[in-house]
Amino acid sequence: MHALETAAVVTVGTELTIGHRLDTNGAEVARALVNAGYSVREMVSVPDDLQAIVAVLAELLSRRALVIVTGRLGPTHDDVTREAAALVVGRTLMRDPAIEAALSARVSVHRDPASAISLLHQADVIEGARVLPATTGTAPGQLIEYAGHTLVILPGPPHEMRPMLHDVLRDRVASAPPVTLKCVGITESDAGHAVLPLLTTYPTVDLTLLGGPGEVDVILVSTTGDDVELTAAAHAARTALGDACYSTDGSSLAATVIDMAIEREESLATAESCTGGLVAAALTDVPGSSQVFRGSVVAYANETKSAVLGVDPALIEAHGAVSEAVAVAMARGALRIPGATLAVATTGIAGPGGATPDKPLGTVWFAVAHAEGRTTAEMHRYGGDRTMVRDRARTTALDLLRRSMLDS
Ligand code: ATP
Ligand code: MG
Repeated sequence: MHALETAAVVTVGTELTIGHRLDTNGAEVARALVNAGYSVREMVSVPDDLQAIVAVLAELLSRRALVIVTGRLGPTHDDVTREAAALVVGRTLMRDPAIEAALSARVSVHRDPASAISLLHQADVIEGARVLPATTGTAPGQLIEYAGHTLVILPGPPHEMRPMLHDVLRDRVASAPPVTLKCVGITESDAGHAVLPLLTTYPTVDLTLLGGPGEVDVILVSTTGDDVELTAAAHAARTALGDACYSTDGSSLAATVIDMAIEREESLATAESCTGGLVAAALTDVPGSSQVFRGSVVAYANETKSAVLGVDPALIEAHGAVSEAVAVAMARGALRIPGATLAVATTGIAGPGGATPDKPLGTVWFAVAHAEGRTTAEMHRYGGDRTMVRDRARTTALDLLRRSMLDS
């Protein structure tokens, strides 16, 4: 067992602190740190102000095992991160002849001699730093060990920063990374009620709940780096969440459905009215889905439901298009798609129009039909606007496919 190492992330750039550009590096670096088992205690954005950067870095480096900084390593006047880092550790910047030679080879393409000179600043390395070579840009990153702490400076462009970040973290896995239990068909508070009581048995594990449309991520993080206790807590949580939990390895719901269909040798089809193909799109988004996904009918008009899926017009007349009977007939109709063994159907009122007193906005009927004859149907009522209703309906349809395979 290791002690949980602490880390901080600093992103430099005035465009970030004036809200002109979204700080995606901060989130990306934090995620990579957490996956390497670090506890990220601060995420800070700082404008291009040398003194401000020095102050923030000095403070964080005194407290955190690892501080990762991105941005402002380039060749222009505002690129002050290198200089700030050198000031913080009290070391000089020294021109590295090999990097300078490599940059000089590029200088010839610049006609402006001033910009050529400034480009060479990227060859300035802090005394004793490990250089992280630039594979996709010109500015190398640097890693500096200082008084038992580590400072890493990386370029701002995400595609330049990314390979260096992974290079730095490759051999620095601090301790147990968090475990994410992905759940569906359960509310955030029910997930909390199921898992929270367990944590008295595992006092070193913290719980975070992240809700999405129809889904909840239950994230367990070790506060001490004790992976044995974290693994035990994850097992207990998985049991408590039951069938609501569909993956522990980050797989999406659609990917889980595809994997299950491959394993059970089922071939999938969808008949979609209110979701307009969203369920089929989610399934075909998964690489390898062609092994098990046979196709979809987007049957929006009643005539299409009848002509293509074989839904009896009398059923629609008697029950309305948004009904259990029509959902079941649509799912059975989707089994006409050659080779399909398992089909899901959606028919609902996504809004803003179309509601009736007994079928308010957000009413969606679902049915699942199996070629062997099993059929189930259920109705859900979602709040929110058209987009939210359709997104939630897509999630439920995928979940019904999943649950129908759990039972088989
Ligand atoms: P360059 O030589 O490309 O200027 P640099 O290290 O100086 O490299 P910056 O000037 O800080 O990088 O940023 C360059 C570009 O990288 C920005 O315009 C922006 O597109 C992107 N970038 C920088 N920081 C971030 C960030 N925190 N999140 C997302 N994108 C960023
Ligand atoms: Mg720059």
